[in-house]
Amino acid sequence: MAKSVLLDTNILRQLISPTEFNPYLRQIIEWQKEEHVRLYCPPTLKREWKKHSEIEFKRIRQILKNHESALKASNLFEVTPDVTDVKLNAAEKRLWAQVEALDQLMESAVTPSEEEAVIRMWEHRAAGKAPFRVKENSENDAVILFSTLEQLIKKQESELYFFSTNHKDYAALGNEEFIHADISDAFPSVKIIYFRDVVQGVNKLAEVGLPTNKKKLDTSKMRVPNFFPVDQTKNEFGQLYEYLDKRFADIDFLPKSLFTYHYPIMIGADYQERREAFTINTDNQILFESLSEKFADLVESRASGKTGSEHVKMEDELLSYLRNNLVRTIRYNHRETLQLPLSIDTNCTCAVCTYNKGNLYSSFSLLEQARDEPESLKKAYTFYLHGMWGEAVSILKKVSESAESNHKWLTHYIAKYNLLLLGRLSRFRPLDEAIESNVFAELREIEMDGVLEECKSPSNNKILEMLHYGKFLDHASEEMQAIVSKIKNSQIDQDSGWSEDASKMLDLFFETIYFMERNYIMVDEYSDVNRFTEYFLDGFFASYQCNENLSGKVGHLSDPILAKIISYANADKIIKYKERYDIKKIKYVRDNVGSTFVIKIIEMLKSYEFLIDLFKSKRYDRISSVWSKFRRIVVNTLTVTSLVEMQADEIEAISRELLPFLKIQNHIKGLELTNSLSYFLKSNAELMNKEILREFLHLAFIGQGFDRDTILKSISGVAKKKKLTVCLKDLEWQLWSSEYLIVENAEEVIVEICYLYLFTTNNLHKSSIIDFIEKSLEANFNGRIYYMTVMDGLVQPTEKFNEKYETEILQFALEGRQPRIFETKSYNHRYIDEFINLSFYLDRPISTALKAALANLDQYYMWLIDIDGFNYEKFDPDWLYKHLTIYYKKYFRNSDSLKRKIRSEIMKSTDFRLARLYLDLYEKESQ
Ligand SMILES: [Zn+2]
Repeated sequence: MAKSVLLDTNILRQLISPTEFNPYLRQIIEWQKEEHVRLYCPPTLKREWKKHSEIEFKRIRQILKNHESALKASNLFEVTPDVTDVKLNAAEKRLWAQVEALDQLMESAVTPSEEEAVIRMWEHRAAGKAPFRVKENSENDAVILFSTLEQLIKKQESELYFFSTNHKDYAALGNEEFIHADISDAFPSVKIIYFRDVVQGVNKLAEVGLPTNKKKLDTSKMRVPNFFPVDQTKNEFGQLYEYLDKRFADIDFLPKSLFTYHYPIMIGADYQERREAFTINTDNQILFESLSEKFADLVESRASGKTGSEHVKMEDELLSYLRNNLVRTIRYNHRETLQLPLSIDTNCTCAVCTYNKGNLYSSFSLLEQARDEPESLKKAYTFYLHGMWGEAVSILKKVSESAESNHKWLTHYIAKYNLLLLGRLSRFRPLDEAIESNVFAELREIEMDGVLEECKSPSNNKILEMLHYGKFLDHASEEMQAIVSKIKNSQIDQDSGWSEDASKMLDLFFETIYFMERNYIMVDEYSDVNRFTEYFLDGFFASYQCNENLSGKVGHLSDPILAKIISYANADKIIKYKERYDIKKIKYVRDNVGSTFVIKIIEMLKSYEFLIDLFKSKRYDRISSVWSKFRRIVVNTLTVTSLVEMQADEIEAISRELLPFLKIQNHIKGLELTNSLSYFLKSNAELMNKEILREFLHLAFIGQGFDRDTILKSISGVAKKKKLTVCLKDLEWQLWSSEYLIVENAEEVIVEICYLYLFTTNNLHKSSIIDFIEKSLEANFNGRIYYMTVMDGLVQPTEKFNEKYETEILQFALEGRQPRIFETKSYNHRYIDEFINLSFYLDRPISTALKAALANLDQYYMWLIDIDGFNYEKFDPDWLYKHLTIYYKKYFRNSDSLKRKIRSEIMKSTDFRLARLYLDLYEKESQ
């Protein structure tokens, strides 16, 4: 049966390709002809399309006119370079043909009536339901979709393939692959399968069984273009040098697929695209041989100490071009391989690099110097990075103007796009100084579609496609998800053998991040970058946990990868994947100079006070942006130390800066700081020397800005083991006791009180605490406090208090089951379990009344209070782990019935914990 398909106006526009007859359009036409799909075209869509198609005709004419000269090198004609007028007409005709084909397609579509849809549309509009969530004037869009759905219901069809680029209004919140529930709920009998772009949707239709010549769609050979003709009288090496010089005159970084399919790297007529990690392929044998020779020369002259000498200067430069664009290997016809030598590291000291090393003290002072530099994207980025957005905006405006007059269209586009991004972002970064606020509001109005048209040229179109509204991140995210799911499958299958997926993943990750960073695109504060990094994290950890026999899996974290994770991931996601893949510690390979991220965090913490003073004395309009990045790096770095194998000296170096920082900082807020600090302490306390550990312990009692309870718990184990003590100074004690020793609050902070009692060396403080506890128990008995303080040895148990405690618990048990967030198979409550624990400890019998109340609560308690008389057919081994303290264990040990039951369970159970518990309970003792 034919699939019902609806394409909205924007999708129709997308179907027109300026460079070729769009293969996806051709596919849809074929399907419609063969009746594999049934297209719908309500009158409103027809009207909108007619309007657009006229614009489209004009647009094409304009493109052709604007780029007449550039077209000489275009792949539009499949022949280069001489273009006669006749051929120009042929190209124009091809573009016309697409519009015409679409016209016909619309004519052959089903035309539903719109009456009912209009009523439904007004209902949705009034209620602010999708598609009226973001755009309020979605009337036409709504009528188009609703009338199609009404028609399908009439014909009892149950499925619609709906294509619309407007995912903000149509897609489900946070899940752009699904239609919004407002819409699906209104038409429950039709399943709406939603796509935000043509490629995805057509591939899906092919996947569900529509006939295609898939090869024709995906792996068709493409013409090798010749956008930048080079002087072919030069030798191959010289030709490559000239080509790269021209290609990168207007952009600093390109993914390999966007610059390698070009003369002289490719000399054949066509090519087939494929991703080989960190590799470019050439079919030019002479070029390959000449590069092999030249780079061998280079290595030799380096070895003989002639670095930087004139005669290898070009080789050095060419090598940097390639290495900077993530080329490590060159292959000839997918066979012979040339590994590129390393390029010499130049230790760049510009403001951006200095900032990235964490040395904010220097990078801010380099700004004065940067001011004298000629206007460039980088210069704008430098000021943006340092919280001077006003300056960045005025530089970008100048850059976009001069790029326009110098025909540097990519630079022009990026400058405009950055202005738009800053305009949008400025709403979330409060203004710190009164600069004209309408400057930023204006920027939000920049219409990138117009800029795109202006910038188009055959040599740039593919690059612009990536840049347009940041699409490179969408594309890369899709590709990343595909690679990651392959990696996960091989993790599940526990395949062994060779897999290239991990290195493809790394290649894609760096290509995408470098495309953003090195072209100075200001998207780093947008969540798209976090999400992309998150996909990568998922894949990286999955690959790390792969079968050891799988060659090609990732084996360690390196400084370059860590630097990106720390800059662009969210700390909670790092932890999420660490826990999901049950990763204890990842092998970490440091750069030659040592751990870059450790050096960076130290520099940043050192700069903290400097920044505070600087921002007080001088005017920066967006310091909140600087702080937001600062925060992210500190929090992520602390979190990452729980992920990689750290060394004692590194932890000590970080701690020495972190301790004074924690005493004064007020930029990282509670939860974030508490979590990251507790990860840092939990994983690294063992490595710390006593003196530093003691300082952290001390801080955990009196520090500000984090949850002391959590921090205490994260180091108390190691602190006890190392027999550490603290001694609060008089003033600190006064502050502490005025905050903690308050009868009304005692239950909430009893854990901290017990910890101080445990660690303090000051006997006066100890006795004050005991005094306080006893008084508060006398005045206002509280079972929780009593339990904690007896178990920690602060208070001597008395029968009077035991009875009070039991009465409290009886009351609690008689209230019945407490509501809980997660229903579990059987019910128990910590309060009750603690009371039972104390009873075991004191060897004190539980009263009959309480026993009866407990038996009413759950089978579990019925068993626990009558461990020998219980009917073991109803026994659940999970009960054993509910509150497994040493006193519970002792109690279990004395029960022969339980012993017999566990022994018989072990035979049936696959849970190895049970056997281990059995040994622990019954075998150890008899030894
Ligand atoms: Zn630099």
